[in-house]
Amino acid sequence: MKRKLALLFLIVVVVPMFLAIYTTSRLVTSHLTDMLQKRARDSLAVAHNFFLDTLDEMALKVQILAQSKDIREAVRSGDIVELIDRVHLANRHLKLNAYDAVTEIYGRDATLLAGEPCTRYPLCPPAVVAEVLQGKIMSFREIVNGHLRICSAAPMYHENAAGPIGVVVISLFSTHQFAEEIKKIIGTDLIFFGFVDERCLLFGSTFREAGELLPVEICAAESRQPAFDKTLAGRGYLFQTMPLEAQNGRLFIATAVEKALVSEMIVLLGDNLIQIGVAAILFAILLALLFSRTLTRPINSLVASAQAIGAGDFESRIGVESHDEFAFLGKTMDDMRCEIKSTVDKLKAAKIKLDRQVFDLSLRNLINQAIIYQKESDLIKGILEILRETIQVRIAAMFMFDPISERMTLTTLDAAPEAGDRSAVAQLETGCGFAGKAVKSSGAIVCNNLAKEPAASLAVEPAWVQTGKNLLALPLSGDKGILGVLYLVDHPQGFVDDDVELLSDISIQIAIAIQKAQLHQLAITDGLTGLYIHRYFQLRLDAAIAKAKRREEPVSLILFDVDHFKKFNDTWGHQIGDRVLKKVAEITAATVREGIDLPARYGGEEFTVIMPNTPLEGAVHLAERIRTNVEQTILMHEDKPISVTISLGCATFPDHAADKEALIKTADEALYRSKQAGRNRTTPAG
Ligand code: GH3
Ligand code: MG
Ligand code: MG
Repeated sequence: MKRKLALLFLIVVVVPMFLAIYTTSRLVTSHLTDMLQKRARDSLAVAHNFFLDTLDEMALKVQILAQSKDIREAVRSGDIVELIDRVHLANRHLKLNAYDAVTEIYGRDATLLAGEPCTRYPLCPPAVVAEVLQGKIMSFREIVNGHLRICSAAPMYHENAAGPIGVVVISLFSTHQFAEEIKKIIGTDLIFFGFVDERCLLFGSTFREAGELLPVEICAAESRQPAFDKTLAGRGYLFQTMPLEAQNGRLFIATAVEKALVSEMIVLLGDNLIQIGVAAILFAILLALLFSRTLTRPINSLVASAQAIGAGDFESRIGVESHDEFAFLGKTMDDMRCEIKSTVDKLKAAKIKLDRQVFDLSLRNLINQAIIYQKESDLIKGILEILRETIQVRIAAMFMFDPISERMTLTTLDAAPEAGDRSAVAQLETGCGFAGKAVKSSGAIVCNNLAKEPAASLAVEPAWVQTGKNLLALPLSGDKGILGVLYLVDHPQGFVDDDVELLSDISIQIAIAIQKAQLHQLAITDGLTGLYIHRYFQLRLDAAIAKAKRREEPVSLILFDVDHFKKFNDTWGHQIGDRVLKKVAEITAATVREGIDLPARYGGEEFTVIMPNTPLEGAVHLAERIRTNVEQTILMHEDKPISVTISLGCATFPDHAADKEALIKTADEALYRSKQAGRNRTTPAG
């Protein structure tokens, strides 16, 4: 932008400036040439007038000499010596010598009486003398031996004689000196006199080299032009000519100016103009830079602001330090910035709110999903896992309230992989630690800087709380009082009010889910043995057979019955009988594969185990282990050892039965065969 503006400025300013300088140079050159030519013309006019004045003066001087009494007397008396003296005197008086003029005096018979100052020039033609002796006054110019003669002649009269007694002639030769005279008057120009006839003859010149007159050749064609160029002594000259009146042939006067002088002046002028031009261009460039800087500064400021906005910076004010359209543009942009900023702020706030809502909803949704776990331990494990991953804490742990010991017992802990194994057993006395405070206040307790907590109050907490950064303790209340306390430890940013509000809300949901799971557990669990009840067994066997069908895998069933239990009851009483049943259930639960096999109380002193994806051999193997474990277990009653045995029957779907009823029946038949065969044994279907 800056470069473009500078270029534009240069084009707008420098180019016209250059053209102006060029035009001025041309105009001044032409004006200078015109001026020199005019000067030459003026010089020529002056020379021309001086020439004519000189002729007139000579004519006048001839008259004066013709009327000189002394000269006339000497001519009449024929006293030649006297005449020469008089002429010499008159010449001096009239300053004729200054013109290199010659005075000739002729007698009545046209004989030369005196010639002053010398006679190295040819004499006046006799015809002229004869004509003047007729009484004529004559003025003429002629070329004689390469010289111009300017001549004036007049008759001399005497009162004692009739007719002219003689003739006075003044001739002016060699006009070099005359040219010098003109040169003195008009200045330093070169002056040339020439005569044009068949040939061109230059008879007067002021052209000198080292004081010596040099010959100059001007041809006839040149002399007829008003101006022409000519080289003299290796230098160029500009000649201007002007015609002079002459009697025969044509006279001209010329002046010359050395062209080098003109070109020197033009070069000088050009140099000056170039210097001025260069200075002007430099000045213009400087101005262009300043101008573009001044112009681009506000634009640059606007561009920087626009880039800042593009990069998301809506805080910096857009301002242009000027009082022009840029300032207005800056203000408009700043208004736009404020508008955008306010919209962006609103959007940000809305996004934060929306993010929070999405987070809340997804957490609630996850918790809802977790509630499908019907087993309390699975449910708590699922909930802790979700909370830890969603809230992004390092550890999530559940302390369940044990109404019997009245303590908080750590039942489940979910820790981030990097947190290591934190599953150490922990218990908190009632009212102790953060759990105690949470229960007491019936609300969430937040500690965002565990390091600042008094060591004494932290001492009761598990080690992973003592070394943690922050903690949130959330009490879970059920219908009949406190269920437990949830610990969330080490939130990366610490817990904020929104977290506390959401989790307090969710804690109600969690408490309900735990209670529901507890109730469900209660509903499907046999009160005496703690195993699943018959109805639940039926449901699970249905589900196991459906799954086995889908997966085309076997499912085995063990059915067993305590031997001679009627008699046992009779011997030891029902209460001991119940204890035995409880023990058998306990042994069964401990022997089967946890989480895979499902032990249940079939009814009375009969039990069953569903074994998914297990062939008959596997079922027989497990049945034998249960049987031997029961057989080897001895209960003490009043220092008397008590023991029972069991008889078992095994059957496998689909090998021995096509449906649930048939499977139970087949297992029951196998059990019957065990009884028949002498009890305390396992019989596979087959
Ligand atoms: P068998 O070896 O043929 O099974 O002989 P048995 O005496 O066990 O015969 P049966 O199965 O007919 O007897 C079942 C007895 O188990 C009847 C009942 O007194 C007793 N019984 C059933 N349920 C309970 C219970 O919940 N508690 C106690 N103590 N006894 C029970
Ligand atoms: Mg029975
Ligand atoms: Mg029995």
